[in-house]
Amino acid sequence: MAARSGASVKEEISRRYFEKTAKTREHLEAAKKYLPGGDTRAAGYYSPYPIFMERGQGCRVYDCDGNEYIDLVNNFTSLIHGHAHPRLIEAARAQSEKGTAFAAPSIIQYEHARHLCDRVSSLDLVRYCNSGTEATLFTMRVARAFTGKDGFIKMDGGYHGVHDYVEANTIADFTAEGPPSVRLERGVPARVAEDLYITPFNDLGATESILQRHHDQIAGIIMEPMMGSGGLICPQAGYLRGMRELADRYHVLLVFDEIITFRLSRGGLQEVEEVKPDLTALGKLIGGGYPVGAFGGRGDIMARFDPNHPENVAHSGTFGGNNNTMAAGLVAMEMYGQGEVDRINGLGDRMRNGFQSAMERVGIRGRAGGWGSLVGTIWTGRELENAKDVVLGFLDGGDLSAVLHWEMLNRGIFFASRGMYVVSTPMDEAIIDKVVAEFEGALEVIKPYVAETKPELVTK
Ligand code: PMP
Repeated sequence: MAARSGASVKEEISRRYFEKTAKTREHLEAAKKYLPGGDTRAAGYYSPYPIFMERGQGCRVYDCDGNEYIDLVNNFTSLIHGHAHPRLIEAARAQSEKGTAFAAPSIIQYEHARHLCDRVSSLDLVRYCNSGTEATLFTMRVARAFTGKDGFIKMDGGYHGVHDYVEANTIADFTAEGPPSVRLERGVPARVAEDLYITPFNDLGATESILQRHHDQIAGIIMEPMMGSGGLICPQAGYLRGMRELADRYHVLLVFDEIITFRLSRGGLQEVEEVKPDLTALGKLIGGGYPVGAFGGRGDIMARFDPNHPENVAHSGTFGGNNNTMAAGLVAMEMYGQGEVDRINGLGDRMRNGFQSAMERVGIRGRAGGWGSLVGTIWTGRELENAKDVVLGFLDGGDLSAVLHWEMLNRGIFFASRGMYVVSTPMDEAIIDKVVAEFEGALEVIKPYVAETKPELVTK
């Protein structure tokens, strides 16, 4: 058979994608009349258009054309037990029958809180809200109230939701030669930049130099212990402990956003790394598939949310701590003990090693990274220390990530287009091996395209 040209490979992949998603395109056109772009969250978008999903069961999702996929998105890491788990449905149903939310405290709220405080040793007290966005917002607000300072240090490329004080440098400032500068999203008040100090992940020196100059204006440091959206970048040995020491030395608070990383151990990545933050933001899996956010930490700081505290900090929200979320979330966490944590982290390792071997066998340069049940791929030979390296690494890969994504969707594998694969508890070794086999098959298919457009990535 004559070798196929790269362009024809890409054309064929996109033809198959269009063919199998005909009903999605109809719905998309209808939806565009009412929703800008036909969707309602930016993170779910990928080119050429995202597929309309209709239902999910366990680790599989089904689209409106009737196609089946193995789901490695899991609503961006929140569905730790996959879709429609009978015990979670039952917990929410039983609670719904008793009422979904009261403007009053309830027993299930403190049971959920007790479970969280038992898992995470840095949590003395917690509060609930409806999203991770609110969780990071309130950690930052209380840190300001507690310290009497307004400034915050944030990682270049760090994502903490969509409120104004974190909608800066969500994509790393990859054009900067020296230290990153503050880059706000459109619509964020320009004066927000005055209170933000941006530093690269894994760089204690850069953070210390900011603290030396500005510590008397800085309330805290907000960071994920492993960067999630920033590209699954692991902390180097001693880095998190170093950040703890810097926070102590310069009298600023250390805030960990464990909204993604909580899944990596029973008590989050902070327990693995043995670093205690002052405050922690949580979300995603702790709601059992329902909208959730939580924030907590040191008792003396969190006490500020007590309405009777003389220097009380405002926090409310009509559906915060609603009983449905609390009931399903508590069961989800009870079902995610050390045994399951270790098992799915092991499945993630199996996938990561499988992906790396597949890249080597096919002969395309790339890296499979991440931690435990969170697996990431990127097409570069570059060392990845921080989010800027990740952005440059993505540029190294050109549109290889996009073409691979289409080919994997054609093969029934649904994952985040930026190259994130999330393991859930309904998965087993056979599912992981199937995903790895499809990955290898997809790489074989796209190799002529890579050879034509990015020959430097072909290793044999
Ligand atoms: N922090 C991190 C680390 C996240 O990954 C996310 C969501 N992807 C958020 C905060 C925001 O959470 P939510 O989407 O629930 O507002």
